[in-house]
Amino acid sequence: MAAIKNRRTALERVEKFLSDTYFTDCNLRGRLFGDRCPPASLSYFQTPRRIPYEEAVVQEFGPAQVGESFGPTWETCWFKVELSIPPAWAGREVHFVWESDGEGMVWRDAQPVQGLTKEGEKTSYILTRSLKESEPHSLTLYVELACNGLFGAGKGSMIAPPDPDRRVTLSKAELVVFNRDVYELLVDMEILLDMAQLLGEENQRSFQALYTANQMVNVCDVTDPSTFPAARGLAAAIFSQRNGESQHTIHAMGHCHIDSAWLWPYEETIRKCARSWVTVVQLMEHNPELTFACSQAQQFEWVRSCYPGLYARIQDFVAKGQFIPVGGTWVEMDGNLPSGESMVRQFLQGQRFFQEQFGRICSEFWLPDTFGYSAQLPQLMRGCGIQRFLTQKLSWNLVNSFPHHTFFWEGIDGSQVLTHFPPGDSYGMHGRVEEMLKTVKNNKDKGRVNHSAFLFGFGDGGGGPTQKMLDRMKRMSNTDGLPRVQISTPDQLFSVLEKESSQLCTWVGELFLELHNGTYTTQAQIKKGNRECERILHDVEVLSSLAVAQDTAFQLLLLNQFHDVLPGSCIQLVVEDALQYYTEIRRAGAQLQEEAVQALCRDLLQPEVCSTPSTLVLNTLSWERTEVISRPGPDGTEALALVTVPSMGYAVVQEPFVPPQPVAVRKQEDGSVTMENGVIAVRLDVMGRLTSLQLLDSGRESVPDGCYANQFALFDDVPLYWDAWDVMDYHLQTRKPVTTLLKPLEISLAGGLRGSVRFSLQVGKSSTLTQEIILDALCPYLRFLTQVEWKEAHKFLKVEFPVQVRSTNATYEIQFGHLQRPTHWNTSWDWARFEVWAHKWLDLSEHGFGVALLNDCKYGASVHRNILSLSLLRAPKSPDSTADIGHHEFTYAVMPHQGSFQEASVIQQAYNLNFPLHVLPASSPQCPAWSAFSVSSPAIVLETVKQAGSGVVEGRAQGLRGCACLISLNSPKAEDRPEAVVVRLYEAHGSTVSAWLQTSLPVKEAMLCDLLERPVAQGHLPVEQRGLRLSFTPFRVLSVLLVLLTPNIAPC
Ligand SMILES: [Zn+2]
Repeated sequence: MAAIKNRRTALERVEKFLSDTYFTDCNLRGRLFGDRCPPASLSYFQTPRRIPYEEAVVQEFGPAQVGESFGPTWETCWFKVELSIPPAWAGREVHFVWESDGEGMVWRDAQPVQGLTKEGEKTSYILTRSLKESEPHSLTLYVELACNGLFGAGKGSMIAPPDPDRRVTLSKAELVVFNRDVYELLVDMEILLDMAQLLGEENQRSFQALYTANQMVNVCDVTDPSTFPAARGLAAAIFSQRNGESQHTIHAMGHCHIDSAWLWPYEETIRKCARSWVTVVQLMEHNPELTFACSQAQQFEWVRSCYPGLYARIQDFVAKGQFIPVGGTWVEMDGNLPSGESMVRQFLQGQRFFQEQFGRICSEFWLPDTFGYSAQLPQLMRGCGIQRFLTQKLSWNLVNSFPHHTFFWEGIDGSQVLTHFPPGDSYGMHGRVEEMLKTVKNNKDKGRVNHSAFLFGFGDGGGGPTQKMLDRMKRMSNTDGLPRVQISTPDQLFSVLEKESSQLCTWVGELFLELHNGTYTTQAQIKKGNRECERILHDVEVLSSLAVAQDTAFQLLLLNQFHDVLPGSCIQLVVEDALQYYTEIRRAGAQLQEEAVQALCRDLLQPEVCSTPSTLVLNTLSWERTEVISRPGPDGTEALALVTVPSMGYAVVQEPFVPPQPVAVRKQEDGSVTMENGVIAVRLDVMGRLTSLQLLDSGRESVPDGCYANQFALFDDVPLYWDAWDVMDYHLQTRKPVTTLLKPLEISLAGGLRGSVRFSLQVGKSSTLTQEIILDALCPYLRFLTQVEWKEAHKFLKVEFPVQVRSTNATYEIQFGHLQRPTHWNTSWDWARFEVWAHKWLDLSEHGFGVALLNDCKYGASVHRNILSLSLLRAPKSPDSTADIGHHEFTYAVMPHQGSFQEASVIQQAYNLNFPLHVLPASSPQCPAWSAFSVSSPAIVLETVKQAGSGVVEGRAQGLRGCACLISLNSPKAEDRPEAVVVRLYEAHGSTVSAWLQTSLPVKEAMLCDLLERPVAQGHLPVEQRGLRLSFTPFRVLSVLLVLLTPNIAPC
């Protein structure tokens, strides 16, 4: 009989047939499971620690009941489940069903076998697909249940701080008969129903799907499985009606986004990886077509050291090409804030790991979920063997819709990478019709490319793909009305995109995310730890390479650069871990540095040679510096000295040389103070604000009439939802200048080598700020040493410098270079960048003059019209209610200059502020100053000196459960070549230039290498009298491998 043309009743009839709420007594869904049987016994034991299986199973287990709840948050319950399968179930598919709101892992015979998480639609562990008499009917499983959900334990909302008393309920633990034929029919009909609803009434395929589904209900007697094949035949007939040749092809890849720490701590992530990946491996056993793209070397390393059995299975599937390592980085790091060298190390350590473990490096950079992408990344990717990039985060833009999904992305040096955003705007697809249609419809490069990526699997908190997702896509592989869907790999997708690339557009410059701009500022201690530890490891490497002794703690630094840690968008537990790791780096760094200095300058430090005390000053930067240092005086007090130290070297100072012009500090009658040092002159009012900042040479004034520079301002900071992440445009309308004086300005150092003044302000209702403003002899900038006791809620503190400079663009330092952003709000693309990021400096210049703002640990900034602002502190309450509350210390500096910022050495001065000279007491009276390296051009920065192959040695990953997660990745290269050093330089001015790299090291051989330290073709460099001649184009990063005659350098 023909179907009645009532679209609504037909649709709803099919819906009810599939419903898990209505009519389950007589519909198809109600037949999914057959007989059930409780476990023969269920017992448990609870622990606050995350312990290994071997330790867990020998504990005392007490009785447990289904329906009971367990907790509190972050505890772990281990369940012992004894099962006895009824013999009457012979021939049937039997599942162990486990439902709970905690994250579970099934262990069988001492191995993890299945992750079970209700939120990730994983509640069944398949015991047998067809029960045979010969199979064991009695068995024991263990379930390790974490008392947290897939997204942690937020109280009230997902991103709220964790509820410490959350309990998870065990709602089901039983054996069931699973009716696979019912399941298959359900999947068929769900897809037909989706096609009917989503293809729309203008599309005849919608009606074909609807009538087919309706007819299937007619044919199907749910009590009689013999009617099922006929119904399935109807579905198969429509699914096999093919597409035309021009149809879009979707490349589906299994994926599982696992934040290395976010709403849960690092240690839980280790278990999330195991739960998710064992599930993937289990699926691969039965679905040989399944592919799974998996990033983050750190996570592989965790599983390698904590779950060796699982890791061996993963290695097999990597070899088969199904489990596919991608990304090439140590973690999916923040894309804005890590330094240039840190970003190189993300790739270097990641690619080395993948090479060693799987015999190949990754050819795609994979960073689907971070908060913007530096314009330096294309060059770094290419230097690390990568020409392809995948992300999707720009789909989160609040203001402007990014105009491409497939395009060439060009960085500041002109390097390009082929970039793809999956047009479905997600990394956690479920294989549904709706998502396939969105992927085609949303694609902004229609007509240019006809292929796109589709990443399926639960993510963020892990989970990964399910059987159902795969089964859906099998049916959609080539069905008229839907795009073609094929299970694919990143390589297959990018290869076909490369072939189609002739029509693609190019996007030049950064990929700025118009959201989450608060992450440049949130959790100031993490930012400070990052900057400081980058500095420590830089110095340790320089000093220890020169001393040829090396070791690093880079991996902990890289781990903390994960895209919810460095941005500060994590819970308090993670902040505590991260700060602890920085403490470890500081401790290890101090020791390594001392060892290196001892090895390098032992003779100078020996305390007998000469009775006259002197000072050893070390400079780890690649230019000569003349600065005021503070050193211990004869009576234990601090004494100042002005010293000159050669580039990347040291000097022994006995008689400090006298500055040509001492610093003069004078108090005026109105309470204001003037300071000058022959370079700059400032006038400060009683609140520490600059009413004048002059370059003495030219008399040029920086502060506009009637304006105050170093003006603090407090803003209301209430975003729409993502508290720690977002600062919204409207916060700018709530500006309140800070003007409550606690202690007026007074002189603390009267001048000479150093002058300084001090004052205190009340900030907001309950916070205080104390500042010491320092001017050193000969120094071109004024320093602001700042201490804040911060006790605010939803406030944002900035400091502002209005300047007498007119320019439509400001310049911001980024990794190994800089870029410009507009100072006006002409278009939506301009005003959407009301809060941006920078590294050590930003600058506003007009022809011939400018003002730079330097900092030692801040990242958030903005320049609107003629006001430079540095973002100092925020006070979000989710996901960490204690974020940023407490004591803070940071330094920034203002530097007016003549000429361009390049000519005025702003770049070098910002380095100087961040890399203070090392000062040690010495005994040797006479030793010529020594320089290991220098560069002939001020445009070139020699950023890194490291042992070849180092940086991957013996970093201690955080141990889960006391399992010693020691990483021993001594690269064969490093062992083979203890005499080789890698130096990395970049062109910092944006110019084409040749430069000589001079060194006092005995260089035998020199060659250019890539960022992975592999020599490049024709990269051999002649070692000449003047050193090595190097050619740079704007922002070019060059790495040079130096083979030394002897590793023993004895400079003095
Ligand atoms: Zn993420």
